[in-house]
Amino acid sequence: MLHSINNSYSQKLKEIENLAQRLPSVSIMEVCGTHTTAIGRSGLRQLLPDNIKLISGPGCPVCVTHKREIDNYLELAKEKRVIIATFGDLLQVPGSESTLAAAKSRGANVVVVYSTLDALKLARDNPGHGIVFLGIGFETTAPTVALSIIQAKSQGLKNYSVYSMHKLVPPVLKALLLDSSVKLDGFICPGHVSTIIGTAPYNFIARDYNKPCVITGFEIHDILDGLYLLLLQITQQRAEVRIQYTKGVQPKGSAIAREVMDIFFRSGSVLWRGFGMISDSGLYIKEKFKDYDATVKFDFAVDHYSKDEEEDPCSCGDILKGLRAPNECSLFKNPCTPRNPIGPCMVSSEGACGAYYRYE
Ligand code: SF4
Repeated sequence: MLHSINNSYSQKLKEIENLAQRLPSVSIMEVCGTHTTAIGRSGLRQLLPDNIKLISGPGCPVCVTHKREIDNYLELAKEKRVIIATFGDLLQVPGSESTLAAAKSRGANVVVVYSTLDALKLARDNPGHGIVFLGIGFETTAPTVALSIIQAKSQGLKNYSVYSMHKLVPPVLKALLLDSSVKLDGFICPGHVSTIIGTAPYNFIARDYNKPCVITGFEIHDILDGLYLLLLQITQQRAEVRIQYTKGVQPKGSAIAREVMDIFFRSGSVLWRGFGMISDSGLYIKEKFKDYDATVKFDFAVDHYSKDEEEDPCSCGDILKGLRAPNECSLFKNPCTPRNPIGPCMVSSEGACGAYYRYE
């Protein structure tokens, strides 16, 4: 894959090499799954000096979906007059004992959609069924899902609801920083999420933990620039939140999108794969919109948390924390592959294991 880095990037690589000579071993986490994929595709990890390590983080929404959430989706799928509307990636993600794909093959009403608009159409086309959209993702997708509730309301679709399992990025970064087993020197912060939240929610990382953050775009030249800005701060013993992705991110983010989120969601504790429960890291539908909250409309919640990850042969938890690389999992490639995924990091197109399998 090394050929993907063309000459126009070699100058920036040289500058990175020059900085690296002044540094001890440095570990930088690329938080976002889109960055992980771009880095894998370009071969950048292998081109960097030996003392500069890029580590993948918890920024793939499918990968951080906890088994217990999948178990709950599966319970919901047993309801007779319910149609589950989900993004395709979620189908193969294993719960404690099964997947949505397996439930579908056994006759459950599980339909793959590409947007909330598709889910709303399902609701219009199936007035005798309750349509539940599985809302996963980060700050980027939550406003769109909130808007789908407005659309359902304005279209008089009382059979539409959302099971919100949206998650927030800054709290999981804090969980990483509080974990003494995780050793990181800086973050390549997610571009898409930051278009919504801006820079302020990352300030605590620089201020309280003395780790620099650079919000970075998704092209390989963006990632090289972002990495350079991070290493420059480290050599200068500075820790600030900077924006490399200036064409996409404003320092204040999008006030309108955050306002929409505030109208429909409240924050609360939620489970993350690999991390367990993180307080104030999830988004739940507010009481006044309970008619559109699947967790209120249907009585299906289950607790499989007692069967915790300790029994799990998959190392996605460690991979999402940057404690292991995918190829350090004993199941990587044999038997775990994209056609036979054992864990969500191999299922998702943005998962670290999938990216390693395809590119590295
Ligand atoms: Fe899990 Fe497969 Fe990745 Fe191993 S290679 S951590 S089993 S998804």
